[in-house]
Amino acid sequence: SYRKGGYHAVRVGDTFAGGRYIAQRKLGWGQFSTVWLAYDTQTSKYVALKIQKSAPEFAQSAIHEIEILSAITEGDPECKKCLIRLVDHFKHTGPNGQHLCMVLEFLGDSILQLIKYSRYKGLPLRIVREICKCILIGLDYLHRELGIIHTDLKPENILLLSTINPSKDPFRSKMEPILSKPEGGLNGGGPVLNAIEKKLKQRARQAVARISARRMAGGQPAPKPARSLDGIDFRCKVVDFGNACWGSSPLAEEIQTRQYRAPEVILQSGYTYSVDMWSFACTAFELATGEMMFAPKIGQGFSEDEDHLALMMEILGKMPRKISVGGLRSKEYFDRYGDLKRIRRLKSWPLSRLLVEKFKFSANDAREFAEFLTPILDFAPEKRPTAEQCLQHPWLNKASESGVEKVDGEMSKLQIKAGK
Ligand code: ADP
Ligand code: MG
Repeated sequence: SYRKGGYHAVRVGDTFAGGRYIAQRKLGWGQFSTVWLAYDTQTSKYVALKIQKSAPEFAQSAIHEIEILSAITEGDPECKKCLIRLVDHFKHTGPNGQHLCMVLEFLGDSILQLIKYSRYKGLPLRIVREICKCILIGLDYLHRELGIIHTDLKPENILLLSTINPSKDPFRSKMEPILSKPEGGLNGGGPVLNAIEKKLKQRARQAVARISARRMAGGQPAPKPARSLDGIDFRCKVVDFGNACWGSSPLAEEIQTRQYRAPEVILQSGYTYSVDMWSFACTAFELATGEMMFAPKIGQGFSEDEDHLALMMEILGKMPRKISVGGLRSKEYFDRYGDLKRIRRLKSWPLSRLLVEKFKFSANDAREFAEFLTPILDFAPEKRPTAEQCLQHPWLNKASESGVEKVDGEMSKLQIKAGK
């Protein structure tokens, strides 16, 4: 893809926008772009530089993405809305053509990384709640104030504001900007940050030494334990507006990544903001359990779509006939009674039972979490609660376990004072 019309090849130290940005290392890539960590010499901060492929169709989609990102950034001057911000944009001419570049605030690991660090066991519910709140604040603003549908919400597209215990793992790529920074330190430096960096570097060296010693001794590396999540701030932001659209003019028919795709998209019954709510619920489930809520597979005599619909009905119950037969593609999957044509026998695994039996939730946790998720997974898009309504849900506003104790403690103090 590094040819005419394709990606722009970048080397560490390359400069952009008349020398303002200096490329540090590659952060990632997508179908349309490569993303680089860059140093912004004007603000002395790190930024993410997204360099689009140069062919006209990629440029067109970058223009669209810049339009959406500008609306997001301009509408939220106080940076409170948990959505990625656009810092700048410009054109860069290289051997493969002219590339539109977006300068975005630099964020940390995705919550998919967080799920991996849990060894796919799922995160403590208090952390799931924190992340859900951030996503919902972002979605509420996006839907209600800006009129934008994200259309590709999933753990990969939710990035943490910080990196995960970089000192614990020297081989992680996120260490690099710390180990090979330009002078001044990460985002401005200063004596405190520099001291922290010194410590991080020292720990990284010690860990490298320990690991190579173990390798030299010929021992098998110990199995990795689940990473400690202590001390991480779980604020996060929604990113990747490459597929986002205005609610008033939905573009593509087929949207969303397979596992997070809403039933109305599969059936082509038309969609609106509530498709993001479906993906949100799938994401919340995955955070709490470590497994995708729906992972359909093509099978003997049935398609991935039909398997997907079957999996949904196994957990959520039978789809109302009006909905199952109401889409442009309904006839491919459903007979006129609203039964799937090729997958005849469905198991029944209601959400709260699934959470208890498969994921070992306590009965109480399972019931409460299922009460939060089930309405969002309504087959009828218009019945799903909005992000604004979800933010009011008691499950999200439940004090964490330690919080409850604290409140109780204070309550008893008050009661003692009151002489009870
Ligand atoms: P595409 O639209 O081409 O899929 P994305 O916006 O998803 O591009 O970015 C590709 C990858 O680059 C992401 O998966 C992530 O790893 C990394 N990335 C993107 N934006 C940022 C950012 N602001 N901070 C840190 N990493 C980022
Ligand atoms: Mg992407």
